[in-house]
Amino acid sequence: MQVPLLDLGAQFRTIEADVLGRVKTVVDRQGFIMGPEVAELEREVARLSHAAHGVGCASGTDALLLALWALDLEPGDEVIAPAFTFFATAGAIHNAGGTPVFADIDPVTFNLDPAAAEAAITPRTRAIVVVHLYGQMAPMEAFADLARRRGLRLIEDAAQAIGARRRIGEAWRMAGELGDTGCFSFFPTKNLGAWGDGGMMVAQDDAVAARLRSLRLHGGTREYFHDEVGTNSRLDTLQAAVLLAKLPRLAGWNARRRELAARYDAAFDGHGAIRAPRTEPANEHTWHQYTIRADRRDALADHLKARGIGHKVYYPLALHLQPCFAHLGYRAGALPVTEAATAEVVSLPVYPELTPEQQDAVAAAVLDFYR
Ligand SMILES: *Cc1c(COP(=O)(O)O)cnc(C)c1O
Repeated sequence: MQVPLLDLGAQFRTIEADVLGRVKTVVDRQGFIMGPEVAELEREVARLSHAAHGVGCASGTDALLLALWALDLEPGDEVIAPAFTFFATAGAIHNAGGTPVFADIDPVTFNLDPAAAEAAITPRTRAIVVVHLYGQMAPMEAFADLARRRGLRLIEDAAQAIGARRRIGEAWRMAGELGDTGCFSFFPTKNLGAWGDGGMMVAQDDAVAARLRSLRLHGGTREYFHDEVGTNSRLDTLQAAVLLAKLPRLAGWNARRRELAARYDAAFDGHGAIRAPRTEPANEHTWHQYTIRADRRDALADHLKARGIGHKVYYPLALHLQPCFAHLGYRAGALPVTEAATAEVVSLPVYPELTPEQQDAVAAAVLDFYR
C-alpha cells in the first residue's frame, strides 16, 4: 500500500463546498486586497491564540521578519534561536539586520532549552526566538521569565503550532499568547493551510500590533502618508477566505492527529531501535509532525521509500552548520543535542485523513525494517 506523507486532496474532498463558497464570495465581489475576510481571520486567530491583536501578512517567514524588524536591531545585535528548525527562523533574524546566535535543544521535545538560551546571552543580545517544533509548545513560562529577568524581547515561531496549548499554573496558555509577538504560517502543508502562502502575527500590546500593521503596509497608517519605510506583506483576501472556511475544523483535525499519534506510540512501544516522540505532561500537542528517532535512520528512510511510504527528515542539516552561516564560525560539535537529532529523526504520515489501514501499513513498514 502506498501512503503519502500528506494528502491535501483527501482534506479538500471533505470541505469542498465550504471553501469554494467562501472563495466565490470574494470572487463575486472582485475585492482581492485587504477585504473583510482578512480582518475577520485576524480576529479569529487572535481569539484562538488568546491574543489582543492579529495582523495578517504574506507568509510565516514574513511574520517572523516583521516581528524582528519591529525590534529595530542595530548591526551586531544578537538574537538567540534554536538551530533545529526550519530555515526561516534564522533567515528572518539575518534579514532583519540581527546576528543569529544558536543555542541547543532539549533532547526530549526538540525545543530550545531555556538553560542553553540563557547561557548564550551576551551584552549584545536583544531577543529570543522560541520555536514550537512539530506542534508541541516550548516551556513558555521559563522563556517569559528569562526574557523578563534579562530585559529581552520574546518572539514565538508558532508556524507549526497553531492551536497548541500548555498548562501553566492553573491556565491553558496558547501558542502565540505569551511572546511579545507570535508568528503563524498558513503554508499549505501546515495544520491550518491556505491555497498558497499566508501568515499572521499576534500580539497583546497595542503599540506592537500598530507597528506591525504599519510595517506590512509600507509604514503608514494613512494611504500615501508614510511615517517610516515598511513593505508590502499583506495576507491575500482569497487566502483569508480559504482559511476562514477551514478554521472551524482545526480543533477536530488536531484531535485526530493526537489519536493517530497515540496509535503510533502503541505500535512502537518498547522498541529499542525506534524512539517515539514524547509529549511533556503540561502540553497538548498538535502533531504537525510525528517524528521518531530511529537507529540507522538513512537506511530506514530508503526502506520506506522503496515501500512507497511517505516520510521526510525535518531537518537533515542544523542551521549553525549551513553554508550561508559559515561566517558565524560554528563548528560541528558546537550543538551536540541538535546534531544528534539531525542524524536520527524521521517524520511519518500523521495527517487527519490518514486511515487506520494506511497507518497500519506505515507502522508495519517501519517495524519490518528492524525485523
Ligand atoms: C513553515 C515554517 C516557517 C515559514 O513559514 P512560511 O509560511 O513557509 O514562510 C517558519 N518557521 C517554521 C518553524 C516553519 O515550520
